[in-house]
Parts: sequence; structure tokens; C-alpha cells
Amino acid sequence: MIAPLTEAAPEHLTPHDLVTYFRCPHEMELTRTLHAKAMGRVPPLVRTPLDVVPLRHSPMAPPPAGPVRVSEGRLDITERDLLVYEDSGEADLPVLFPPERVRLDPRFTNGHANLIDAELGIAGRPDLVIQRGDVGFVPLEFKSTHLFVGYHEAHGRLFDAVQAIAECRLVQAVFGRRPEYGVVLYGDTAGGGSREGWVEVSYGEAEERWLRAVVDQVRRDRTRAPVPSERTCGSCEPNAEGLCRFAATRYEGPHHRERFLTTRVL
Ligand code: SF4
Repeated sequence: MIAPLTEAAPEHLTPHDLVTYFRCPHEMELTRTLHAKAMGRVPPLVRTPLDVVPLRHSPMAPPPAGPVRVSEGRLDITERDLLVYEDSGEADLPVLFPPERVRLDPRFTNGHANLIDAELGIAGRPDLVIQRGDVGFVPLEFKSTHLFVGYHEAHGRLFDAVQAIAECRLVQAVFGRRPEYGVVLYGDTAGGGSREGWVEVSYGEAEERWLRAVVDQVRRDRTRAPVPSERTCGSCEPNAEGLCRFAATRYEGPHHRERFLTTRVL
């Protein structure tokens, strides 16, 4: 008797995978290995062949240049906003909501925190999901760094836009309504709030089409080539562990990329 052919499940991807792939596909491979080891799991096979030719640029196209609203100062939370989801695994999230406006969705308490999009085969945890007045559900990603001077010119925060778009799709899949935008909150509290700010990354049909295309691209990429550069290698987690043979520079700390960009923007 011939066994029926079954399709292999698509490779599991997270918003964070897409961000690291956007920086450097090889970094995505090595980061997943590191995290699997940290969780006591068998690490996945690193796809990058030993004789790979490093690339000069990431093979992933940047997200569409849709409208991005940049605001300085504290995030404006109104009385009509509710907190409906919080990643309980993140210890340092800011407290933005008083207890009476916290209505956590019971589907994601009790350790079931992942938002799963079964159609695209992606899953992940935004830091927060806010139900905003008439706007609907909005994911929020918190960064402890500061809002960039010259945000629009730097293009450095495209990494954050990749994450925001992927999290919008997760919210769309789970809450059944397309978010208009995702929020990236830059919450550096130094300077009495003068360094804080937030960005609304729009999420329309163009962004969703882009996301579908890049998820497919990542899955089809059998090489996961390195993209060595001072900017990315200096803040690359696997580089800190001495795992990469292609590093363009030594590891200089998690905020190297931000420092690198800031010194070029100011
Ligand atoms: S050190 Fe550089 S080339 Fe190596 S994985 Fe990290 S970002 Fe990629």
C-alpha cells in the first residue's frame, strides 16, 4: 500500500526572524540556534553552506514606504483605550494603563501568549495590543532606546517597521480586524521625557502584500547568506558569542546600531 503524500509544514517564522533576516539571513539562522540552545531544545540545522559567498545587501526588499507618523513625547493614551494583550514574558515594559483599563483577552493568559496566524504560518508576541477607540486593535512594540533625530532620513528604523507590520498581521489574524497601523514606542526616559517618542507604521494592503512575499522568500531561501557590515555585525547577538565566521567587526554591544545611525544623522 502506498502511503499518501503529505506536504511538509511551512517553516515556522516570527516577526523577530523577519527582522534578523532583513539585517542578515545568516544572523537569523545563528540566532535561532542560540535561542533553541537557551531553551534546552535541539537547535535547527543552520542552512548556510560553508562555501557561501557573502552578500553586500540583504536579499529582503524593504517594506513599502507608506505613511509613517512620528510623534515626540509620551504616548497619548486616551480614556477610550484598553489594554487587551501583554507579553508577560517581557519584564521591563512600561505601565501605560491604570488597572481599570486593563481587559486582557483570556485566550492569551495562562501561558498561551503567542499570537498565531495559521494562514501565513507565523507566530509571535507583540509587547502590547491596545484596543483604541474607533481605530480598533493596534500592536505596540517597546524599544528602550530614544526616538531618532531625523527619523525619516535615517531609514535605520526600517527594522522596526518590519516588526510592526508583521505584528499587525498577527493582530489581524487573531482579533479579526485589520489594524490601521502598528506603534513602535521609543521609551528612553532620560532627560525627563525629552527623548521619548513613538511612530505609527501604517498597515494597508501594500504592507500585507509585502509581508506575504517576504515570508515566502525567507522560506525559499536555502542559503541564508551572511551580509557582513560594521552596522549590523557590531550589534549581532551570534557575533557576541563568536559564532560567525563572516563578521565585519567585533561585537560592540546591543545599542551599537543605534549609536552608529545617530552619529550619522545628527
Ligand atoms: S556577524 Fe555579521 S555577517 Fe555574521 S551573522 Fe552577524 S550580522 Fe551576519
